[in-house]
Amino acid sequence: MKVIIFGATGSIGQSALKVIREQRKQEDIQIIAITGNNNVEQLCRDAIEFNVERVVTANDEHLSQLRHNLASYEIKVLSGSEAILETAQIEADWVLSAIIGYNGVPPTLEAIRNSKTVAIANKESLVCAGKIIMDMAEKFHTTILPVDSEHNAIFQCLNGESIKTVRKVTLTASGGPFRNWTLEEMKKATLLEALAHPTWSMGKRISIDSATMFNKALELIEAKYFFHLKTDQLDVIIHPESIIHSMVNFSDNSTIAQLGPHDMKHAIAYTLNYPNRKATTLDEIDFAAQGKLTFEAPDYDRFPALRLAQVVLKSEGGLGAVFNAAKEVALDRFISGEIGFLDMSSLVEEVLMLPEIIGLEHKSPVSLNEVSEVNDLVRRIAKETRL
Ligand code: NDP
Ligand code: MG
Repeated sequence: MKVIIFGATGSIGQSALKVIREQRKQEDIQIIAITGNNNVEQLCRDAIEFNVERVVTANDEHLSQLRHNLASYEIKVLSGSEAILETAQIEADWVLSAIIGYNGVPPTLEAIRNSKTVAIANKESLVCAGKIIMDMAEKFHTTILPVDSEHNAIFQCLNGESIKTVRKVTLTASGGPFRNWTLEEMKKATLLEALAHPTWSMGKRISIDSATMFNKALELIEAKYFFHLKTDQLDVIIHPESIIHSMVNFSDNSTIAQLGPHDMKHAIAYTLNYPNRKATTLDEIDFAAQGKLTFEAPDYDRFPALRLAQVVLKSEGGLGAVFNAAKEVALDRFISGEIGFLDMSSLVEEVLMLPEIIGLEHKSPVSLNEVSEVNDLVRRIAKETRL
């Protein structure tokens, strides 16, 4: 099996390499290309260990260092976003899309055009270009599989079921580090506090998105497109233990849930082996030790991102890219200390309500160019918006 990993140096990318490191003891898995951005050391170590044919850093400034470190190996070394896009044109059996943020969208689309299976962790792809992706996968007969734990769970719950019998899909959310904080406390939340996720260990940006619940907002939009659902079929429940990864309620009011430890390697291994299941050495849940699973209704006042997601879900597709771009800029501005924790959702709300943006509500983008134009426009606006 020929594999390409986009975002190999990240949290998801490294988990995928662990899964493959284990599985390739039993079968022939060739990682032909990996990509990263700033973590040159990790990229080099992985390129050598997995004997890849090509390694790409998105950042041109690291090209000479990468070339120097890999000089004694027969590995093609490239840099820049064009090289990443070109890598997505290589035919592969399994491609993992695990770059963080909007930069992961163009290679995901390109990989769908050229590969047999694309496992999508980059949720921004479905948020910004959901309809385009689903249409492309159908046109190019590409299997797309969700890596995001909630969507992976829903996918597993739907196995053998007809989507027509789905009444409701419920995404579980841990509630993040501020689940029990007051609005006053959240106003003063620091970057360090926002990074302290109670259950999952993830990259920096998605950890903060979990604290605001922008992550769950993005996941609702992602689920809408991936599973062709209507807004009123989508729900969120707070489940602090993060053992149930999501559940599907059917027309006969039977509910199927998928459970597992909070370790993304499970979802990654599932997509790597789909439609089969293969034995892994991953942990199982000790239910007796776990004791109980609890649930709470989400608080839309303290977590406005969930309320804002409804605006996007009800639109015809044009607002996904707006929402994501505004959120990415808000996150940058919070990380740099320019705005406070709660200002992130205020900024996104303000952008969504601008007259020139509201007009996009009925205009579903039909090409990557259109998505990219919206992304650029909104980033410019969100950077300048004063609160
Ligand atoms: P990380 O921040 O840990 O890793 C991001 C990866 O993208 C790294 O390989 C990084 O390179 C690379 N990267 C960063 N900027 C660029 C760029 N401009 N161009 C190309 N590559 C770039 O993120 P995660 O692994 O946490 O998340 C990856 C994706 O998966 C996200 O879309 C996230 O929402 C999704 N996801 C993550 C989950 C998790 O548990 N982490 C769970 C579900 C979904 P480098 O490190 O070398 O700088
Ligand atoms: Mg998730």
